[in-house]
Amino acid sequence: MKTLLLACLAFSSFAYPQSPNSTAAELDKLAARFAPVELKVDISSLAAGDKAAIKKLLEAAVIIDRLQLRQRWSGNEATWEKLKADRSTLGQARARYFWLNKGPWSIIDDNKAFMPGVPDKKPEGANFYPEDATKEQLESWMKGLPEKERNDAQWFFTVIRKDDKGNFKIVPYSEEYKADLEKLSALLKEAANQTQNASLKKFLNGRAAAFLSNDYYDSDLAWMDLDSDLDVTIGPYETYNDDLFGFKAAFEAYVNVRDSKETGKLKLFGQHLQEIENNLPLDDQYKNKKVGAVAPMVVVNEVMGAGDGNMGVQTAAYNLPNDERVISQRGSKRIMLKNVQQAKFAKTLTPISKLVLRPEDQKDLDFDSFFTHILMHEVTHGLGPHALDLNGRKSTPRQELKDAYGTIEEAKADITGLFALQLLMEKGILKSSLGQGEAAERKLYNTFLASTFRTLHFGRTDSHARGMAIQFNYRTDKGGFVSHGDGTYSIDFSKIKQAVADLDREFLTIEATGDYDRAKKLMKDLIVIRPDMQKALDKMKNVPNDIRPNFVTANALMHPAAAPPARGKSKK
Ligand code: ZN
Repeated sequence: MKTLLLACLAFSSFAYPQSPNSTAAELDKLAARFAPVELKVDISSLAAGDKAAIKKLLEAAVIIDRLQLRQRWSGNEATWEKLKADRSTLGQARARYFWLNKGPWSIIDDNKAFMPGVPDKKPEGANFYPEDATKEQLESWMKGLPEKERNDAQWFFTVIRKDDKGNFKIVPYSEEYKADLEKLSALLKEAANQTQNASLKKFLNGRAAAFLSNDYYDSDLAWMDLDSDLDVTIGPYETYNDDLFGFKAAFEAYVNVRDSKETGKLKLFGQHLQEIENNLPLDDQYKNKKVGAVAPMVVVNEVMGAGDGNMGVQTAAYNLPNDERVISQRGSKRIMLKNVQQAKFAKTLTPISKLVLRPEDQKDLDFDSFFTHILMHEVTHGLGPHALDLNGRKSTPRQELKDAYGTIEEAKADITGLFALQLLMEKGILKSSLGQGEAAERKLYNTFLASTFRTLHFGRTDSHARGMAIQFNYRTDKGGFVSHGDGTYSIDFSKIKQAVADLDREFLTIEATGDYDRAKKLMKDLIVIRPDMQKALDKMKNVPNDIRPNFVTANALMHPAAAPPARGKSKK
């Protein structure tokens, strides 16, 4: 019997007792799904100017935290102040879980309230629209506006308020949040004066001006050009908090330090792109004779995340900006947060590996293999078929595969990434990072096997989890993954490489020929949870969902009073 994966995947958060009357013990249990970790970054390599600038950026990040709280709900800041002052056990438990969720609603429990005296669920329009306004009222008002005003009303950086007559009006962020944006602007200018890095100076001065002018375009371009050890993303960006329309951007900040070792690895991949393309398991007629450069990507370690950048499930990587004008001109840039991924690896993948790998294989679990595969996954999105010529008709895999494209493309990147790492490993190109030969391959494949279950278990996006189900079942059918019937699996090293190459050929050929029916058939046959896989997933109920960072490096750099309340017993 087949079970649709999607229905099962909804259990990424289990039925926990949760209500406005949750007790302190219950709240701590909800919070325990996020394993506490100390996020540390070595900042000793920063230039003296950057060491002074980072303190200003951390001060700015604290303001971002407050702004984003205000954006989520009009009552949020007052509730937070009250909870912080409440010294009772219940008050403190509420405060801890409030900070994790940046509000009184549990994000991974469908945004339901976990304390009394607040709306039952997070308001759909957050604090971007008048709270008593309905979607229909707002829509019909927008429809009646002249084009320019309508664009302003739907723009990222405006809120909708009511004037004294009760009519809707458009208010730019630069007015709505004026006092805080003026402080932010001043801090960014101070940081710009301290750093010696020209690209960082340019971004910080540009963003400082944008906070006051409400025009973020030039500073978004400057962010694309940012080439600095001290790396920062700060401003209004993602629109997920606006559940009503998805128009309005929430404030977030990531204060990061660039990881030079991983940046070097990306450069190495860039030098071998054509070689990987030429060796793909795909008919030569479909191969790209001249592949483009790797899309801009930077690996950093996060010193502090704030606002939308530190809420609920932690960001592992992000692509910005979201302004289509910048994207069409310059593309977007991907930032990978290495130490965050390392913490997730330690708190979720490591316990999963102990449940699904046999004892003799558990020692092969390896962060470098895990992270290098994630990097290669991103790189291989740019390889394989992109421009199709279907009997003279120009098209793309996205256009041809339609609703199947996301799943197929994610699975393609996973498996092509694995194929490419195997190829570079055999050529000795990864010798200094991942090694070479049997021991290195054992680490690569056993780590991949364990991480397969992490994606299936926590797959938060349909595309990733569906794509992973196809890969898992295909490789099991080809004998590359072997089930031992008790929820543990192992790799058959005599079969895994062929299974990877065959499956990669399937995905790449589907994309090259734009074969929608073949994609749908593969999905229908293989996006299923089989009984043995279910046994493995059943064992994972107590594995934490995610992490809850304590930014120890940031806290050490800042005035301690600015830090969010620390967890009870992290004295070491
Ligand atoms: Zn991807």
